[in-house]
Amino acid sequence: MENSPFDVIIIGAGVMGSSTAYHAAKRGLNTLLLEQFDFLHQRGSSHGESRTIRVTYSQPHYYSLVIESYKLWQQAQTQIGYQIYFPAHHIDIGPSDGPIMRSLVNYCHNLGIPFQLLRPHDIAEKFSGSIHIPDDWVGLSNPYGGVIKPTKAVAMFQTLAYKNGAVLKDNAEVTDIKKTKEGVVVVTASGEKFRGKKCVVTAGPWVSKLVKTVSGIELPIQPVETHVSYWRIKEGHEGKFAIGSGFPTLASFGEAFVYATPTLEFPGLIKVSVHHGSACDPDNRPWGPGVMMRELKEWVEEKFMGMVDSREPVVKQSCMYSMTPDEDFVIDFLGGEFGKDVVVGGGFSGHGFKMAPVIGKILTELAVDGEAKGVDINPFRIGRFKITSKI
Ligand SMILES: Cc1cc2nc3c(=O)[nH]c(=O)nc-3n(C[C@H](O)[C@H](O)[C@H](O)COP(=O)(O)OP(=O)(O)OC[C@H]3O[C@@H](n4cnc5c(N)ncnc54)[C@H](O)[C@@H]3O)c2cc1C
Repeated sequence: MENSPFDVIIIGAGVMGSSTAYHAAKRGLNTLLLEQFDFLHQRGSSHGESRTIRVTYSQPHYYSLVIESYKLWQQAQTQIGYQIYFPAHHIDIGPSDGPIMRSLVNYCHNLGIPFQLLRPHDIAEKFSGSIHIPDDWVGLSNPYGGVIKPTKAVAMFQTLAYKNGAVLKDNAEVTDIKKTKEGVVVVTASGEKFRGKKCVVTAGPWVSKLVKTVSGIELPIQPVETHVSYWRIKEGHEGKFAIGSGFPTLASFGEAFVYATPTLEFPGLIKVSVHHGSACDPDNRPWGPGVMMRELKEWVEEKFMGMVDSREPVVKQSCMYSMTPDEDFVIDFLGGEFGKDVVVGGGFSGHGFKMAPVIGKILTELAVDGEAKGVDINPFRIGRFKITSKI
């Protein structure tokens, strides 16, 4: 066992744990980041080539988190010296009389976000004929969109954490966290023990399993397997869909929640996927076929008017969400015998990546200062669920 305890031990090196390690190390804290697999593996939630950042949400509590994250993404990429964030406009589309579009318009009004409400012909005109919506749909366009490079972002946080003195250890599966007088002891599958004053659990789709093992508390966070799909743009139309051409990041609220990002990672391909998946055991994945493929093919054909080949996606990648019943995050102290010594960051429900920089900061502050100043974490408290505990 280590002689002097770490100030903070972080369990799980996806984007949330890696961002937390970066913030903790930057504050001069003696920081340890533990990961069960290889760093930058592809078996969790944070790998891949693109994530959307957007400010439009139905729940106002995400607004300040996203705005702060834009600033922190810029800061971190300046420190590392390469580009993580690629700017784009964002557009939400959906039925004009639907509750989601109405709530997004109210949200923009109330928060003073500049936006344009666009009819189908305005959209065709604004985006060079690349996007077509039905006559009874509208689009809500605003300047706060963009693409984040996920694997590159995780590597960036790990590198910056390391440069600031953090200890990073992969292939170290945590099997237990024990309460001690001074804080916690974290135990790995190989029998190593690490003492920490505080601990942050950012175990992604494994978070409920780990929390249950160490505390008996059952968090209602469901791992879900999902897929991203890339589609081939037909010859001659590639330029219309490229990042920097004016093509936006896009969220579509029809029968399915479909999202798209401009061409960036694979020339000639566009990512169009559906926010949906199947419940899974993260240790026994189905690695199943894509989800809602029929709906997705129809969406690609209709919204891109035959300019994108809708027969089959040409690249598919598998990934996991960690879903809470209300799709709000879990950011809180574990409580029970651990009190404020263990903080949990999980349940990011398929929309957390964009906010990783601010979430890492909040988790660090909760662990080390006992509070996150200026942030209301009430929407993210464990207490909002009916939970069971052996404690
Ligand atoms: C297909 C897809 C598309 C998405 N699109 C967007 C988007 O456009 N915009 C957006 O904002 N968000 C998006 N998200 C959501 C976002 O990617 C996730 O919210 C985020 O990556 C969650 O990160 P995490 O660190 O909590 O989890 P993970 O990345 O899964 O990290 C958890 C880590 O903990 C490790 N671990 C688990 N148990 C242990 C243990 N016992 N010991 C040691 N290590 C352990 C795991 O191996 C893993 O590396 C998307 C997610 C997916 C899957």
